[in-house]
Amino acid sequence: IINFVSSAVIMKGTQDETVALSQAEVQKQSIQEVRRSLPVFPYREDLLLAIQQHQILVIEGETGSGKTTQIPQFLMESGYNDGGMKIGCTQPRRVAAMSVAARVAQEVGVKLGNEVGYSIRFEDCTSERTVLKYMTDGIGLCLKVVVVIIDEAHERTLHTDILFGLIKDIARFRPDLKVLVASATLDTERFSCFFDDAPVFRIPGRRFPVDIFYTKAPEADYLEACVVSVLQIHVTQPPGDCLVFLTGQEEIETCCELLQERCRRLGSKISELLVLPIYANLPSDMQAKIFSPTPPGSRKVVVATNIAETSLTIDGIIYVIDPGFCKQKSYNARTGMESLIVTPCSRASANQRAGRAGRVAAGKCFRLYTAWAFKHEMEESTVPEIQRTNLGNVVLLLKSLGINDLIHFDFMDPPPHETLVLALEQLMAELPVDPMLSKMILASEQYKCSEEVLTIAAMLSVNNSIFYRPKDKVVHADNARQNFVVPGGDHMVLLNVYTQWLESGYSTQWCYENFIQFRSMKRARDVREQLEGLMDRIEVEVCSSGGDIVPIRKAVTAGYFYHTARLSKGGYKTVKHQQTVYVHPNSSLFEEQPRWLIYHELVFTTKEFMRQVIEIDSSWLLEVAPHYYKNKELEDSSSKKMPRKQGKAKEELG
Ligand code: ADP
Ligand code: MG
Repeated sequence: IINFVSSAVIMKGTQDETVALSQAEVQKQSIQEVRRSLPVFPYREDLLLAIQQHQILVIEGETGSGKTTQIPQFLMESGYNDGGMKIGCTQPRRVAAMSVAARVAQEVGVKLGNEVGYSIRFEDCTSERTVLKYMTDGIGLCLKVVVVIIDEAHERTLHTDILFGLIKDIARFRPDLKVLVASATLDTERFSCFFDDAPVFRIPGRRFPVDIFYTKAPEADYLEACVVSVLQIHVTQPPGDCLVFLTGQEEIETCCELLQERCRRLGSKISELLVLPIYANLPSDMQAKIFSPTPPGSRKVVVATNIAETSLTIDGIIYVIDPGFCKQKSYNARTGMESLIVTPCSRASANQRAGRAGRVAAGKCFRLYTAWAFKHEMEESTVPEIQRTNLGNVVLLLKSLGINDLIHFDFMDPPPHETLVLALEQLMAELPVDPMLSKMILASEQYKCSEEVLTIAAMLSVNNSIFYRPKDKVVHADNARQNFVVPGGDHMVLLNVYTQWLESGYSTQWCYENFIQFRSMKRARDVREQLEGLMDRIEVEVCSSGGDIVPIRKAVTAGYFYHTARLSKGGYKTVKHQQTVYVHPNSSLFEEQPRWLIYHELVFTTKEFMRQVIEIDSSWLLEVAPHYYKNKELEDSSSKKMPRKQGKAKEELG
């Protein structure tokens, strides 16, 4: 049992509690009735008038008021798209873009991908007929766009921030272009200020009061605390669905599993609890489930990442459980290291989360931290991503758009000068991918293994979502994964997976049988095609090493020489910064522990882990980066004491 104390804090509501709709009533409404009931609806005409009168308009409204789903429809209904023009709405998150597009297509009554579609990185669900497009990459906006909506502006993702600077510039020489900056009730004055005092259109919120509770003492294990709190709510509180905020897939899966297990044990002593996860890599049919209405007599609990904070609105939530954490990217300009770290969320986030409980009726938010921690340990608001990212990609992107004076680019919050300069120095390739990845691809020409390296690059770019590991089939999944292991390291394993999939005729069944995520593979295939196209454009010949794995690993080394680590007492040390790092337990080289490694990325979870590692020979470093490494740095003082594990015989791919 967790003891919560009421802090006597109540988030103010604007709505009389008695008008709360029962869930059954909400479910009975038709789609058009639901549309008319949204807070934005009464402001339709005022809003359209404001859009007509101003080129740039900031729109502020409570989450769930209908900004994302309704405003684009208003524009379509009033003919903004006449003459083949298009409306674009940018979204920071892939899941949100897909889910919202699906909803709007349903509301408009068209098939997703026809008039209403979405486009996310490497997946395009639009057609010639598409008028309204939800997209994660607004930078690819075409000339035919007549209105661009920069949605979820308050999230201040890297793309949003870059888009701000670009759009502000474009709007100057395209007076016909309308720009709408949509945001939850946060920071809107700053947006207005950045866009030369653009007016702010406020959609009055409609929300019910939310009672906030804190724990008496800090919780040692917030995952366990979540599970206990959900069950406590389930057995003691009146009907109403529950929303839990966790930081990522793994936590969410564990939480769901624990909840299901405990419910099984309680059996018929409690009413039914529907446990539903939502996170970025969840297959889309599973994603859709969170929106289906809860059957009478049962309770739904949605376990989500902070996607449910403002991007997605789930109706019927009365209880929110907030452990107060989120996963954040952080970047160290000195070491060039990017890591994902679980950190306390900001007070602004915590308040957004609490707000989710008050949409349909008065709600309750249970914070799994103390009132003191809220006041003293949390930041006021989240630091914009641009301040904590590797700018290599940004620089490449802007350069590829023909923007050369980056130091004077109109950033809303300019990135640290040091980071920008470092990024400029790293810039070395023409490819629209990470500079290190580009270098690896270019080097593959020299080493005559571009066939293989393109595949590896594509597989690396789909980012750790290749292997599927359902909790109830862990043993099978791990066996399947083990079957893909080949000498050399994880890059070679990825190559092997792709090659086998290709040989299966890109089969879905094959993926299913081998615990491989088909969606990720399909994306890898798209990326590979795009990269191959680019190779053609810059006239790099594509050829294969014919089974020899040394050239492949050399090409990887040429790109990622900056990411070298050397075996040292139980762990590894990075060569340049002597930082202690470890091979990720999922790696094919976890047990083997070769003396020299190149890692693709570092992630910090419980320790600083290297993810996707490849075994190299230290002499290659002098070959590929003589300007960077000195012979002395690479001398292996311990070589006499430690015999080299696993002979050299496996240089050939079996
Ligand atoms: P905002 O952008 O202002 O936060 P939205 O336009 O996203 O608001 O949401 C308006 C309404 O549409 C909400 O009631 C939400 O529950 C509903 N909605 C949005 N997406 C879906 C979906 N995929 N399925 C069902 N309902 C949805
Ligand atoms: Mg929205």
